[in-house]
Amino acid sequence: MVSDYHKILEQTREFFLTGKTKDVEFRINSLKKLRQTITKRNQEIMGALEKDFGKCEFETFATEIMSSLDEINMAIRNLHSWVKPRKVRTPLIHFKASSRIYYEPFGTVLVISAWNYPFQLTMNPLIGALAAGNCCIVKPSEMSPNTSKLMAEIVAECFPEDYCTVVEGGVEETTLLLKEKFDFIHYTGSTRVGKIIARAAAEHLTPVALEMGGKSPCIVDKTADIEISARRIAWGKFMNAGQTCVAPDYLIVHRDVKDALLKAFKERIHNFYGDEPEQSSDYCRIINQKHFDRLSSFLDQGTIITGGKANRENLYIEPTIIDDITWNDPVMQEEIFGPILPVMEYQDLTAVIDMIHSHEKPLALYFFSKNKKDQKKIIHDVSFGGGCINTTILHTGNPYLPFGGVGNSGIGNYHGKWSFETFSHPKSIFDKSLMVDPKLPYPPYGHKLKFLKMMYR
Ligand code: NAD
Repeated sequence: MVSDYHKILEQTREFFLTGKTKDVEFRINSLKKLRQTITKRNQEIMGALEKDFGKCEFETFATEIMSSLDEINMAIRNLHSWVKPRKVRTPLIHFKASSRIYYEPFGTVLVISAWNYPFQLTMNPLIGALAAGNCCIVKPSEMSPNTSKLMAEIVAECFPEDYCTVVEGGVEETTLLLKEKFDFIHYTGSTRVGKIIARAAAEHLTPVALEMGGKSPCIVDKTADIEISARRIAWGKFMNAGQTCVAPDYLIVHRDVKDALLKAFKERIHNFYGDEPEQSSDYCRIINQKHFDRLSSFLDQGTIITGGKANRENLYIEPTIIDDITWNDPVMQEEIFGPILPVMEYQDLTAVIDMIHSHEKPLALYFFSKNKKDQKKIIHDVSFGGGCINTTILHTGNPYLPFGGVGNSGIGNYHGKWSFETFSHPKSIFDKSLMVDPKLPYPPYGHKLKFLKMMYR
């Protein structure tokens, strides 16, 4: 039986073959249309995220809408220069010739996204795919249904179905989609499902970018500015109620400053969300009961420094800091993905690096320190997707930086020009002049080997 998805894909392929998407002006107009619709419907977008998990308007605007508008603006501004064939050097031995890289779209791209930043994690890869001249089928997460439905409407308002469309649904729908042969798949989600996506893609030899998660360490050394560190860590951890792939997952703090830092955290959290964070309109909820139950099971571990309250009825978990945690505790066995920050202490930075190396490569790492030598050591010695010195999360907000993981936390990257490159095939063209045709490469080779050897002495 031919599935509906097969038909959608066939239509999309036909659209791609018309060549319309290869025209840069067509792409720019598409992005402009998307920008206009997002701007027009921004209040509805904020409403959808509020319904999905109580995300406040400020955070939705700052971390979702602005992020996508920045991506669109950057692509519109730079597309003419990005698409230009890039001239590269040609070794003298190939005289006389020139070499260029042409960026061509893959064709039809499948974007599968996660629920935790449901708008930007769907729109940003879509923007990259369209800027690079692809057609696109988008599958948002079923766990944020209001945003998923709204994005389906927005895309339908902007584009003909055979150019770009949203398929809503969960595991069943994604499984059916993955049976089809796409030209590229961009996936955001857990590492467990990432492996399922990679296996399905391998069946068709489809290239992938996998944006996944993991446990991202946050290290505070004894030279760190304690007040600023507490504020920036608490901000990055409790925004979106900790449901951020690059949130600091756990804290490793130097023994000498631990008490001061924990005290500063209490004050920061109180300043951010008041006496009762449950009443704060700036603090969002856990996405569903399954995640609530998983997270609340961590609350009886270690010693709670602040927080610890939970309410299953409204899926609320208080911003929580837990001390006296070891690597053997359940909270350290998986990515937390919620507003719970376990704390461990250290004395020797090298031992911390060894400990990080004994686990999967993190998506992000944050180092708070004034010691330039140790900052360099962390950047040089530890492998992780990306990170920050003396702050959290912000490396993902700069479209001039590639965003992606390494090892278990991801394959490939995107944002800004990196998105354009991810969604393009760099086609190499070697253009040989007809003016001269040196005889060196052609048989009979005779004594020509001597000449080659001389060149490589
Ligand atoms: P998830 O893996 O449960 O789901 C992601 C997507 O995969 C959804 O669209 C879902 O419908 C689909 N899916 C789920 N199960 C599937 C299956 N069996 N077969 C095919 N498709 C399936 O992830 P999530 O809960 O939405 O997101 C949380 C995870 O994503 C965390 O690990 C987080 O770190 C990671 N994440 C990473 C980034 C990043 O940019 N690196 C961003 C956000 C979230």
